[in-house]
Amino acid sequence: MAQKQVFPGETNKAVLEKFLDLPQDPDKVMVEYIWIDGTGEGVRSKCKTMDFEPKKPEDCPVWNFDGSSTYQAEGSNSDMYLIPVALYKDPFRRGVNKLLLCEVQKYNKVPAETNNRHTCAKAMEQVKDSHPWFGIEQEYTLLDGDGYPFGWPKNGYPGPQGPYYCGVGANRVFGRDIVEAHYRACLYAGITISGCNAEVMPAQWEFQVGPCEGIAMGDQLWVARYLLHRVAEEFGVVVSLDPKPMKGNWNGAGAHTNYSTEAMRKEGGLAVIEKAIDRMSKKHDEHIRVYDPNGGEDNRRRLTGHHETSSINDFSAGVANRGASIRIPRQVAEDGFGYLEDRRPSSNCDPYAVTEIIVKTTLLSE
Ligand code: ADP
Ligand code: MN
Ligand code: MN
Ligand code: MN
Ligand code: MN
Repeated sequence: MAQKQVFPGETNKAVLEKFLDLPQDPDKVMVEYIWIDGTGEGVRSKCKTMDFEPKKPEDCPVWNFDGSSTYQAEGSNSDMYLIPVALYKDPFRRGVNKLLLCEVQKYNKVPAETNNRHTCAKAMEQVKDSHPWFGIEQEYTLLDGDGYPFGWPKNGYPGPQGPYYCGVGANRVFGRDIVEAHYRACLYAGITISGCNAEVMPAQWEFQVGPCEGIAMGDQLWVARYLLHRVAEEFGVVVSLDPKPMKGNWNGAGAHTNYSTEAMRKEGGLAVIEKAIDRMSKKHDEHIRVYDPNGGEDNRRRLTGHHETSSINDFSAGVANRGASIRIPRQVAEDGFGYLEDRRPSSNCDPYAVTEIIVKTTLLSE
C-alpha cells in the first residue's frame, strides 16, 4: 500500500471550503499573474484584484515583482516588470477569475535573461505565412514529499519497466487522480490539451499540448505546467520536470516536439519534411544547447542512446524510429505529408527556445 507522505504545512481542505463559499462581488476579479523565474524552469505567480473582468491580456495593467527573490535581480535594481501576454480562465478560483501569463522585463525594459518569449515571438512573426504548428508531449514525474517517486516502495524499487506504460490497475499506475484533475483544469482554462498517458517508468506521466500555431505553443505549455504544479500541490505531491529523475534502468523524461508547416501538411509535404530534417542535421549541436535550460547538460543524462533515446552526440532521423533524434511517424511516411517529431528536447526545456530554433533552422536559414 502506498503510504501518504504528509507535508508539515498541509492544511484541512474542508475548512477552506467554508471560505470559498463566500459570495464574490462581480466587480472584484482575482487575476493571478504568472511568470518564468530566473532558473528558466520554475514558475511563479502572485495575485492582483481588478475592478472589472479582463477579456484580453492588454486589459490588464503591467505589474512588477521583486527580482532579487526569484534569481532575476539586477544589482540593486530588483524591480522587474510583468508584461501581460496571454489570458486564461482560472480553474482553481473559477467564475470571472483569471490566470495571466506574463513576460518578464528588467528595470530598463530589456527582456530578462530567461525571457525567451521575446525573441521567439519575433521569429514566429517572421514565419507566420508558413503557419508553423507544434505539439509538445510533456513528460514528468510525480514525487512524494521525500523526493522519491510517488507510490514507489519506500525502501526499494518497483518491478522492472514493462507493465506501466499506458497501464491500468493500482499496482501499475501511481497518481492518476492528479493526471485527471490536471486534464480537466487544462480544458477549463482553455489549453489545447490533446491527450495524456501513463509512461514507461512508474509515477511518470505525459500530457500533450497542441497542435498550437506559433507563439501559442510556448504560452500554452507554460500555463499547462503551472496548472500541473498547482494541481499536484493540492494533492500534496510534487512534480519534477527533471529529464532523468532516477538513474539506472529507468526511462528519462522528454518533451518530444512535433512540428509542421502548411507545406508539410499538404500533398508533397514529405519532401518538405526531409528538407527540414536535412537543415536540422547541420545544426545538431546548436539545437542541443537550447533543448534544456542548462546548455545541454541536463539532456546529457537522458540522451544516452538507450531507453528510447538517441545519443546526444549524433544526429539521426528515421521513419517510426524511436531511437532517432527525429522520427517521421509511420502514418506520415505512408500519407506522404504531415509532420516530424523532434525527440531531443528535454522535459524541462523552454518551449519558446525550442520552437524558436526549429523555425529559424528550417525556415529562416539558407
Ligand atoms: P507519440 O506517438 O510520439 O506518442 P503523441 O500522440 O503523444 O505522439 O503526440 C503527438 C502530438 O503531435 C500531439 O500534441 C498532436 O497534437 C501533435 N500533432 C499532430 N499533428 C500535428 C501536426 N501536423 N503538426 C504539429 N503537431 C501535430
Ligand atoms: Mn511586499
Ligand atoms: Mn506521446
Ligand atoms: Mn512519452
Ligand atoms: Mn513522442
